[in-house]
Amino acid sequence: MTRYIPHFVGGKSVEASGGRVADVFDPSTGAVQARVPLASADEVRSVIENAEAAQPAWAAMNPQKRARVMMRFVDLVNRDMDDLARLLSSEHGKTFDDAKGDVQRGLEVIEFCIGAPHLLKGEYSTGVGTGIDVYSMRQPLGVVAGITPFNFPAMIPLWKAGPALASGNAFILKPSERDPSVPVRLAELFLEAGLPAGVFNVVHGDKEAVDTLITDPRVQAVGFVGSTPIAEYIYTTAIANGKRAQCFGGAKNHMIVMPDADLDQVADALMGAGYGSAGERCMAISVAVPVGDETADALAAKLSERVAELKVGPSLDEGVDYGPLITQDAVDRVTGYIQQGVDEGATLLADGRDFTVAGNEQGFYLGPTLFDHVTTDMAIYREEVFGPVLVIARADDYEAALAMASDHEYGNGVAIFTRDGDAARDFTARVNVGMVGVNVPIPVPIAYFTFGGWKRSGFGDLNQHGTDAFRFYTKTKTVTSRWPSHGVRDGASFVIPTMQ
Ligand code: NAD
Repeated sequence: MTRYIPHFVGGKSVEASGGRVADVFDPSTGAVQARVPLASADEVRSVIENAEAAQPAWAAMNPQKRARVMMRFVDLVNRDMDDLARLLSSEHGKTFDDAKGDVQRGLEVIEFCIGAPHLLKGEYSTGVGTGIDVYSMRQPLGVVAGITPFNFPAMIPLWKAGPALASGNAFILKPSERDPSVPVRLAELFLEAGLPAGVFNVVHGDKEAVDTLITDPRVQAVGFVGSTPIAEYIYTTAIANGKRAQCFGGAKNHMIVMPDADLDQVADALMGAGYGSAGERCMAISVAVPVGDETADALAAKLSERVAELKVGPSLDEGVDYGPLITQDAVDRVTGYIQQGVDEGATLLADGRDFTVAGNEQGFYLGPTLFDHVTTDMAIYREEVFGPVLVIARADDYEAALAMASDHEYGNGVAIFTRDGDAARDFTARVNVGMVGVNVPIPVPIAYFTFGGWKRSGFGDLNQHGTDAFRFYTKTKTVTSRWPSHGVRDGASFVIPTMQ
């Protein structure tokens, strides 16, 4: 019998009341391994009602006690790390070790959230006028929602849930319908860690569920991660409905390779950053930009050698570099891009199409693809391919390379590989991209910094995790208080108070 993945509402599993369902695949075999319900608007509204009822008591609990729930949650996730990673790998298709990294990078944000009592402190100024003190406090928003993508089914839900919950909000997660099991396990573990029932709910669904969350007046804020067209739609709809919104979108991350860089180090970095997780990472490097033809020729030769050695297979097999893509649709989309690259005149150095894994012929695999001589007008340069496809787009000089990364419509991540501190410093200051690596290919900031792309990679003004997340999930109340114990009796004043 096919496994069924229920919603998680009010601290328990809730079966859908009939309605639409979606298949959840095992991408390594291509078989359907589970079904997930797609919630109706009415079902989502009842989840919001549940969350709204649970939130005040959670908000009233002191922040240190809320932080202790986070501490226990960290222990429980570490206890279950291998099981979570196996489950994640089986639905997503990333390797077991990479799946552990997915859980771990989420957990690091929960560790940061243990500092919530400190992060939620307000400001205080005494004696700003006679007998007058001014202070501010951070208060939770109420019910908030997270809508997350398939490619990090543990990390991104935790980036949203941690700061939202630690700030005293109730949180509704609408995870990707393609790999929904781990998000449900995380909600169960929060309950086991002592989070009151109804404070973290998981509702599965698609556009109907999302549209309800982003228009219902009881939802105060929406945190989204996914593709750019949906990010933009959710941002504009949520803010038009009076909500806070931070919506992160797609990417086309460049790696600038300066002539003085260590090309073996560069080639190794590009293998992991380009093909790891089958390229299904928003911080994957999809464009290598060698500066000068000599660097480009040498790099193309090294990459071709290494690409030929990559091992692609079932995600839970030992020694596999990357596994399958998420669905056959994804394979077809990426295959279409490869054909377009060929049609537009790029040089195909390695062709990953028509790739099968013996014994798993129905799995959603693509071999590694490498293009050279890609130009900025080609679709494989302009658009996010989101697959194991790395392109080399040559630049004549440093300024041209800098301009390519800066002028691209996406601005999530970028890297420069060089031994020249001057070049690196100039690059980090001038490049028009949100997250920059210097000899670091995937510069995902650690939990206590913030994560966010620029241009069409991010909509909204605050980043994910770090201190920004606590600002996003709280509203500031500022109190001006006067205790006129010093005989202050001014009488009525009709002029705005100033400090003159
Ligand atoms: P997606 O946009 O298809 O889906 C993301 C979420 O939106 C899912 O929960 C999905 O159910 C929902 N959704 C899909 N279509 C919708 C619609 N028409 N209306 C309302 N909701 C809808 O993205 P995906 O394929 O799951 O994830 C891959 C994308 O996410 C890539 O573009 C990747 O770059 C991006 N991503 C960005 C970041 C970042 O931080 N910038 C991180 C990870 C992934």
